[in-house]
Amino acid sequence: MSNNVPKLFGSLVFNDKVMKERLPKDTYKAIKHAVSTGTALSMDTADIVANAMKDWAIEKGATHYTHWFQPMTGITAEKHDSFITPVGEGEVIMKFSGKELVKGEPDASSFPSGGIRATFEARGYTAWDPSSYAFIKNGALCIPTAFMSYKGEVLDKKTPLLRSMNVLSKQAARILKLFGSDASVDTTVGAEQEYFLLDRELAYSRKDLRIAGRTLFGARPPKGQELEDHYFGNIKPRVMAFMQDLDRELWKFGIYAKTRHNEVAPAQHELAPVFASVNIATDQNQLTMEIMKNLAEEHGLFCLLHEKPFAGVNGSGKHNNWSMSTSDGENLLSPGKKPETNLRFLLFLTAVIEAVDKRQDLLRLSVASAGNDHRLGANEAPPAIISMFLGDELTNILESIASGKPYARKDGVKFTTGVDTIPSFMQDTTDRNRTSPFAFTGNKFEFRMLGSAVNISCPNVMINTAVAEALCGFADKLEKSKDFEKDVLKIIKDSYTKHRRIVFNGNNYSKEWEEEAARRGLLNLKSTPEALSYYDREENVKLFEKFKIYTAVEVRAREEILLENYCKVLNIEALTMLDMANKQIIPAVMAFSGDIADGINNKTAAGVKPRAELDLLKKVSGLTDSAYDAANKLADIVVEAKGVANVKDAAFFYRDNVLPAMQELRLSCDALEMIVDKDYWPIPVYGDLLFW
Ligand code: ADP
Ligand code: MG
Repeated sequence: MSNNVPKLFGSLVFNDKVMKERLPKDTYKAIKHAVSTGTALSMDTADIVANAMKDWAIEKGATHYTHWFQPMTGITAEKHDSFITPVGEGEVIMKFSGKELVKGEPDASSFPSGGIRATFEARGYTAWDPSSYAFIKNGALCIPTAFMSYKGEVLDKKTPLLRSMNVLSKQAARILKLFGSDASVDTTVGAEQEYFLLDRELAYSRKDLRIAGRTLFGARPPKGQELEDHYFGNIKPRVMAFMQDLDRELWKFGIYAKTRHNEVAPAQHELAPVFASVNIATDQNQLTMEIMKNLAEEHGLFCLLHEKPFAGVNGSGKHNNWSMSTSDGENLLSPGKKPETNLRFLLFLTAVIEAVDKRQDLLRLSVASAGNDHRLGANEAPPAIISMFLGDELTNILESIASGKPYARKDGVKFTTGVDTIPSFMQDTTDRNRTSPFAFTGNKFEFRMLGSAVNISCPNVMINTAVAEALCGFADKLEKSKDFEKDVLKIIKDSYTKHRRIVFNGNNYSKEWEEEAARRGLLNLKSTPEALSYYDREENVKLFEKFKIYTAVEVRAREEILLENYCKVLNIEALTMLDMANKQIIPAVMAFSGDIADGINNKTAAGVKPRAELDLLKKVSGLTDSAYDAANKLADIVVEAKGVANVKDAAFFYRDNVLPAMQELRLSCDALEMIVDKDYWPIPVYGDLLFW
């Protein structure tokens, strides 16, 4: 294994360097032009690119190609075709045409479409996204693509993301222009990925982990995370071997894997990449998750990406670090040293504040899933209420602009904030609020509500679109302005005054905040069905239509797909629980109590009074009865749930009836786990799974 990381880096990617080397100059230029302007390549150019890609891929051992896309399932999809083309009698040549590169026609009928595409109209197509590089995985050349129905409705997660990037870029450029710059704007994202690593054999011996990706039973181990000895702790040799391999694999795919460390919970870890343009960051995060899972298998490990795999133990999230940067390499959320750049910074900052306040519902629903419902608001992840952390200094500056009162800097210097006296900021990086769902961290925002398993495209579509909306409003006013700087300050003042309720620098985990947030009129959408119901609000549909992100039909389709997914996940979990309770736990417990009963008979026959045995038998029997009843009840409710016709009603039915019934079954089984002899207990327990 070579340790030459720069050489290794991107070795499986048809990246800019490879294109420069292998494409004729004008083809290379044409592709660059197509990417920067979002226009299509001519078929002749596509033919040349395809041929160069194929030759390169074959040299690297590839035999197949596939369009690689991100349907609404949230994971990636691929269907491999080999390069072989028959010529003459029993012979083949390796061929790959521009047409095959640019467009694919997978049968779309088995991907969720939310009713957009009737099954008789199964055709859908994938279209090459040249802004994300092709790469080789498992012997196949993977072409990143967008996926849509034959009539052009989007069926994937990538297309809206690309659209939202363009929209934000356009609106931000309008503002920049007013500040005298012709730069274009890109959205940058760094997604920190949390995960658990378990021993493969142990994990596979539990049906819930195998099928539902989380434990559906399990009592707290005697030791949890209370000693706080895992966070940034020593990394075990077996985990380290995995992490080293993982970094190397990711580097080969051109993924900027940067930071690795142990997380808060036992057996929990994190990987953070260096940020990239958001569509690349999205592709790379999808690949990262896939590679993590596969590589773990090779190491005899089991990688869990579920948001809440263990009750009572921290779940896993994915912090979405978000900012905007110009083609001149300037970060628009980085406060400058001079009043002029600070004015621009404050304007962009205000746009984000307005966006987050105005579109709280969209941000919240973009992270809604059955898995994440266990996490949000559970004192480990931010609550279900969206708010923003700005830190004292920025908040004070904005407050002083809003009130016209002087602002006193930390070093005692006072300002009456006007255009030429916008103070330079003393960046206070120690002042980190870990409880905030949307925190300013010095030069970017960190959206912390994402669950670890989520595809990051939807949250970023929402942030991009909402910020574009705010910038569009600002630009509409400023383009007509006679006194630019004064009007910029006025916009900051008016917008901040209207939206300041979203700013909260205190402890988001406290009960008081929930009450205060309610007084401020902030949304608190605690569950997925509730949050998703906001998707097709008239105002939201209007927003998406205005910026051409989704049509009304596409919005409703998305809502339906996500609601359906929620129901399906809970249905699978409930059925898995029933299977485990009826076939494993209850029989094991009955065997145990049967043996106690035998022991009681033997002792009694020998003339000894079996006090402890009788007591234990009573307890075990009582809990067994409860578990048995709860299982029967859950089975009935699952059948009932299946009968609810409307998907929204069904989602609420699952939340209000199936989930509590699952909880009831779990309670008695977990209580049994605490008192049943471990030799009888049929599955590995939390202690075994988490401390290995
Ligand atoms: P922290 O200590 O706050 O987690 P880091 O510097 O470690 O900060 O960054 C965390 C993540 O944020 C990384 O993935 C990093 O690449 C990303 N990040 C840093 N700057 C930006 C930016 N301008 N835009 C988007 N993401 C960024
Ligand atoms: Mg972070």
